[in-house]
Amino acid sequence: MTHTAPPYIAYSSNSIQHAAQFQKLPAIERHAVEIVSKVLPFKANSYVIEELIDWDNFKSDPMFTLIFPQREMLSDDHFSRMEQLVKHNASAQAIAHEVQKIRMELNPHPSAQLRNIPQIDGQPLPGVQHKYRETVLFFPSQGQTCHAYCTFCFRWPQFVGMSDIKFATREIQTFVEYLKAHKEVTDVLFTGGDPMIMKTSILENYIDALLKDDLSHIRTIRIGTKALSYWPYRFTHDPDADDLRRLFERVVKSGRNLFIMAHFNHYRELQPKAQRDATRAILDTGAQIRTQSPVLKHINDDPNVWATMWREQVDQNMIPYYMFVERDTGPKQFFEIPLEHAWNIFREAYQRVSGICRTVRGPVLSATPGKVQVLGVADLAGERVFTLRFLQGRNPDWVARPFFAKHDQGATWLDQLTPAFGDEKFFYQNELNSILGGDSDIDDSISFE
Ligand SMILES: *Cc1c(COP(=O)(O)O)cnc(C)c1O
Ligand code: SF4
Repeated sequence: MTHTAPPYIAYSSNSIQHAAQFQKLPAIERHAVEIVSKVLPFKANSYVIEELIDWDNFKSDPMFTLIFPQREMLSDDHFSRMEQLVKHNASAQAIAHEVQKIRMELNPHPSAQLRNIPQIDGQPLPGVQHKYRETVLFFPSQGQTCHAYCTFCFRWPQFVGMSDIKFATREIQTFVEYLKAHKEVTDVLFTGGDPMIMKTSILENYIDALLKDDLSHIRTIRIGTKALSYWPYRFTHDPDADDLRRLFERVVKSGRNLFIMAHFNHYRELQPKAQRDATRAILDTGAQIRTQSPVLKHINDDPNVWATMWREQVDQNMIPYYMFVERDTGPKQFFEIPLEHAWNIFREAYQRVSGICRTVRGPVLSATPGKVQVLGVADLAGERVFTLRFLQGRNPDWVARPFFAKHDQGATWLDQLTPAFGDEKFFYQNELNSILGGDSDIDDSISFE
């Protein structure tokens, strides 16, 4: 890499006023960011500010909306409650109290994330989630933040310290013991936050532990990250970027697959030269890159955006993997799209690209029983139905079996659907209830990266 990277400046809601671009925004916009960011965490950096956001058209800019909290992300009630406190110089304690109340109203089940914690020798293994037979998720404790925060992200309880038990562990050794005892596991997926926030020396500890001979059943290591979009210099210019690429090479040389699961929401993130260079540098190590994103109102609810994004990804030798439906998130109503609309966006985009881009699967809901794909809307036996299938199931035997729900134009999530053809329950329901031990209405899926 010949050019130099710009300095990394991290911005929080307290320091964003110092960014020249932000200063030029109308006062009313800056005020909205100030108020809403009290509730929804805000973080940005110099690359995001300078390379990704179109400040001249910020109002309609998907990248601005993705990173800067918007007035409409809070209800009028929540917004004015915060505004009043700020206006009357309420104490930090009073503000924190109100923020906590509003967050609980936005995200009623933060503790639902505490399910699915595997055990070893009767002891819970925090930082690990094993929901589907072949794949274990690992949340390294030092990876519980990101280079910038996406406004739609459902993981903000983790970042803002809302949940008592973070999905985090320093205990790589107990994780390794767990994997040794679970020979059915072939894949380990590092997730967060963003694991690429970690220094190479720390990531190396975790990954090297998986390359030992007694873990030869681990065939694939995946790293979910948004760094290719938010700080591509992580792979090319950071002081430990060379070490990082050597680490990637070592994984590949060991005979494992290494997949960077890159998170892109819009083709605009794929345009800067720094991103292209980083992609090339990753691929040169022998690692591969698969891509994923949720479909979101105001960001990418347009088949053209997706078709362009997939084509651009394939042009850069990435493999499109998932289009997700966004699950329960803070400002849900702001980003939410009905399932039928999500399917139409997927279908129209899919029709516009060649088979090489059609490695992508969507729209996919990561829900309590499993990963469910909306295959489409059809008329069957005189009834309009959704055709669905499992891509992953709490019981692997559910996978790839089509099932049907009554058509519902406004439904946005699986729990709003009811079985078609007069059935009382979906085919998996009884089994799911016994897997969950009775209470099936808590959505316990937590990750997609
Ligand atoms: C998506 C996901 C995985 C990975 O599933 P793949 O089908 O292998 O991509 C694993 N665990 C959880 C909890 C997931 O949500
Ligand atoms: S979506 Fe990913 S990159 Fe964005 S804030 Fe959430 S965890 Fe971080």
